[in-house]
Amino acid sequence: MKPFFCILSAFFLLLGLSVCSAQAAESGDAGQPSSAPKAKILVAYFSATGTTRTLAEYAADFLDAELCEIVPETPYTPADLEYYTGCRADQEQADPAARPAILGDMDHLAQYDVILLGYPIWHGQAPRMISTFLERYDFSGKRIVPFCTSHSSGIGSSDTDLHALAPDAVWHSGTRFAGDTSREEIEAWAANLELTPSAVFDLERRTVLLNSGYEMPVNGLGTYSLHGDVCIDAVKSALASGVRLIDTASAYGNEEEIGQAIREAISEGTVRREDVFVTTKIYPGDEMEAPEQSIQSCLDRLGLEYVDLLLLHHPDRNDVRAYLAAEQFVRDGKIRSLGLSNWYVEELETFLPQVTVTPALVQNEIHPYYQENDEIPYIQSLGIVVQGWYPLGGRGHTEELLNDPVILEIAAAHDVSSAQVILRWNLQKSVAVIPGSSNPEHIRENTELYHFSLTEEEMSRINALDRGEKHDWY
Ligand code: NAP
Repeated sequence: MKPFFCILSAFFLLLGLSVCSAQAAESGDAGQPSSAPKAKILVAYFSATGTTRTLAEYAADFLDAELCEIVPETPYTPADLEYYTGCRADQEQADPAARPAILGDMDHLAQYDVILLGYPIWHGQAPRMISTFLERYDFSGKRIVPFCTSHSSGIGSSDTDLHALAPDAVWHSGTRFAGDTSREEIEAWAANLELTPSAVFDLERRTVLLNSGYEMPVNGLGTYSLHGDVCIDAVKSALASGVRLIDTASAYGNEEEIGQAIREAISEGTVRREDVFVTTKIYPGDEMEAPEQSIQSCLDRLGLEYVDLLLLHHPDRNDVRAYLAAEQFVRDGKIRSLGLSNWYVEELETFLPQVTVTPALVQNEIHPYYQENDEIPYIQSLGIVVQGWYPLGGRGHTEELLNDPVILEIAAAHDVSSAQVILRWNLQKSVAVIPGSSNPEHIRENTELYHFSLTEEEMSRINALDRGEKHDWY
C-alpha cells in the first residue's frame, strides 16, 4: 500500500515556495512582472478497487500535482463491498456517523491551495472514509474540487453533502466520471478548472503578488473626496510617509491632482515612478459605453505613462465589453493589471467566463461592521486579491467604529490607535486597505501597521463585531 504522505514532496514544495518569494522580490525591484503564481495542488483520493486511483493519477500527471492516497486502516476486502448483503460498506453507508479510521498523517496539507478529492460512489454517497479525512484536517480557505467515479449512478448530493464537514473550505462543484473515462477526458476536465492559488500577503515586504505577476502594496491611500491642493498635499504626504499605493477613480474627479502630486514627488526625488502603484477606475454609463476613450482619458489625466491597476467601478450593462477593451490596454502596456469593484460572488460567476484575463483584484466595502465573510474566501480562492474600501467605516461612520469598545480595548493593549487595529485586522485577513485621509498625522499612522500583530483571540473578537451593516448602497 502507498504511504499516506511523502516527505520528499513536502521538501520540494518548500523549495518551490522560496523560489516564488525570490521571484516576487525581483519583480518589485525591477517593476517587471514575474510569472503568475501557480496553485499548489494535491490530488487526494480513496480507491477501493483501483478505478478512482487511475483517474486521480491522470489528473495529478496533467496538473503536475502531488498525489496522495487516503488509505483505510482496515482495507476493504471484496466481501466488504458485496453491496446489499449487509456487508461492511452497506453498514458504514447506512450510518452517517461512521468514521472508518485512516492510516498515516498529512502534516503538509497546509501548503496546498487546491485539493482535488476523488472517491467512488457507494450507495449514492462518498464513502465514510472521506468524512474521516475532511474532519481530520483544517481546510479553511482551500479550494476543494470533488470528483467521483461510478458505473451508473450520478454524483447526486455526494459532493454537497460533504460541505458541512469542511465548512471553511471553498467548494467547487463536483464531477462524476464513468469507470472507463480516458486520460484525455480527465485532462480536458482538469484544464478547465480555475486553479489559481490564493495570493499570499508578505507583511515584511508589505506587498502581495497579483495574479498578473505584479507586486502591489497592501496598504495605500484612498483619495475619494480629496481635491485641489488638499489632494496634492495628501498624496505627497502619503508618499513621504512611505505609502506606495494611491487609489483614485475617474468619478472622484481628482486624477489630474494625483498625477501632478506623483510627478512632483518623482522630480523631488521622493519616489521613482515604478515605486508607486496607481489604481484608477472607469464608471458605468457613458464611460463603459465608450471604454477605449474613457480609459485613454484616465491615462491622459494622470499623465504617468501607465496605470498599475484599472478597475471597473461597478457592474454595468457594458462591463464585459469595457473589460475586454481594457485587456487590449494591458496588451499594449498602458495598463498593468485589471480588476473590479463592487462585484460579489453572483456577479463574478456570471462575469468571469466572459473575459480572458482573470481580474487581479476586487475592491469592495469591508470594515468590522460589514465584513463580507461569505464573499472574501470565495474571491481569494480564485487567486484574486481582495481590497477593502471604507476600511474605517467611511466618512460619517468612522466615529462609532473607531470608538467601538472592543476596538478601543485591543488598541490600548498594543499601544496603537483604533484605526491601526482595524487596518491590521484587514491585513491579517489578507485584505488590502486604502484608508482615506487628508491629515498627515493620520496618513502616517495608517502606514504604521507592521510593528504589531493581533492575536487569534483579538481577531475573533473583531470578527464577532460583524453586523452586516453596509455604509453605502453599492
Ligand atoms: P474611510 O477610509 O473608511 O474613512 C475616511 C475617514 O477616516 C476620513 O474622515 C478620515 O479623516 C478618517 N481617518 C483616516 N485615518 C484616520 C485615523 N488614523 N484616525 C482617525 N480618523 C482617520 O473612508 P473613505 O476615505 O471614504 O474610503 C476609503 C477609500 O476607499 C476612498 O478614499 C476611495 O479611494 C475608496 N472607495 C472606493 C469605493 C468604490 O466603490 N470602489 C467606494 C468608496 C470609497 P481625516 O481626513 O481627518 O484623516
